[in-house]
Amino acid sequence: MKIPRSMRTYCPRCKTHTEFAVSLYKAGKRMAAKKGERHQKVRKRGYGGQKFPEQHNQAKVTRKQTLTLECKECNYKLMRKGIRLKKAEVA
Ligand SMILES: [Zn+2]
Repeated sequence: MKIPRSMRTYCPRCKTHTEFAVSLYKAGKRMAAKKGERHQKVRKRGYGGQKFPEQHNQAKVTRKQTLTLECKECNYKLMRKGIRLKKAEVA
């Protein structure tokens, strides 16, 4: 599905409707030195390593794509809840 590059919606900082730039949310890069990664490394040590089940067989074939909106006037960023799409692109 093609998503428009910009949309007009309410900005909580400007307290009015403004133009927002649209982009797709992308998870940040995992850093080995971060707290969660360090703790996971400790938890996985020794016998009985994995502390939560790893999912292997996914039932769903699509992912929810979150939209990141950025106000063109004050650069306030907000997220829009994603809908299930095979492929989303900002056009
Ligand atoms: Zn704004």
